[in-house]
Amino acid sequence: MALVTSTEMFKKAYAGGYAIGAFNVNNMEIVQGITEACKEEKAPVILQVSKGARAYANHTYLVKLVEAAVIECPEIPIVLHLDHGPDFETCKACIDGGFTSVMIDASSKPFAENIEITKKVVEYAHDHGVVVEAELGTLAGIEDDVKVAAHEASYTRPEEVEEFVTKTGCDSLAIAIGTSHGAYKFKPEQCTRNADGILVPPPLRFDVLEEVSRRLPGFPIVLHGASSVPQSFVKIINENGGKMPNAVGVPEDQLRQAAKLSVCKINIDSDLRLAMTGTIREFFNEHPDKFDPREYLKPARANIKELVRHKLRDVLGCAGKA
Ligand SMILES: [Zn+2]
Repeated sequence: MALVTSTEMFKKAYAGGYAIGAFNVNNMEIVQGITEACKEEKAPVILQVSKGARAYANHTYLVKLVEAAVIECPEIPIVLHLDHGPDFETCKACIDGGFTSVMIDASSKPFAENIEITKKVVEYAHDHGVVVEAELGTLAGIEDDVKVAAHEASYTRPEEVEEFVTKTGCDSLAIAIGTSHGAYKFKPEQCTRNADGILVPPPLRFDVLEEVSRRLPGFPIVLHGASSVPQSFVKIINENGGKMPNAVGVPEDQLRQAAKLSVCKINIDSDLRLAMTGTIREFFNEHPDKFDPREYLKPARANIKELVRHKLRDVLGCAGKA
């Protein structure tokens, strides 16, 4: 199977009450860990590349890594998606360069300007058989070059979504309902603590999601900043020389609930980083004599694979849907 767009995936996901995992890729081990899990679990998948990933690994290397995954995993549909395209030029470069889906993120711009920029990307993308994700509302947090202070973040205004989707022609819409980028999604003072002293974040705004869905029936919604920041990996990092106090994410049961509703794409990046970093830190601590990168990247890749497998089965619900 060649690379596909997300159109069919989202239709099936919407009807089936599950979501597709959109995992960020930056190098070979991450691509392999994700796609091996998806292959074994028979899950469709979106591999996404941020502006930062293109700067780090180079556009061509990433495209070729994903093309290799397509060859190695012919049983599953794979989308190659641009995450947080900052402008028309970046989106155009990815559309011309083999991507099947792009995001234009003009959510920090005024409403009319967001519509204008998104519409321009949609026209170019659709002419080339590529689909477009847009964003309304702003998420707090840090993801590569996207930095938004908590006080500048705002929930999506449901009364704007129909006009935005109609005027831009976008194929899916990322909304802000309380998720945020990074491994510190909530400040301790926003949270309560459970019996084990673990931070419990405030719930997502399902009322906003439901109102958006009511206004856009059948339309695929996207959640960014949806890592759960597994405390097992935070603990491993902190016990092996790391320093990540109060790292906290979105509880997985809330993501499962969103996936049953109109959310068809859930972005996961920080959790992969935590799995990789935790594994490597532990390895270095336990084997100070080792220096072959394959020896520590192999267990890191294996733990990314197991993490993705868990997401597919227990959070996204897309295992067996390829
Ligand atoms: Zn994002």
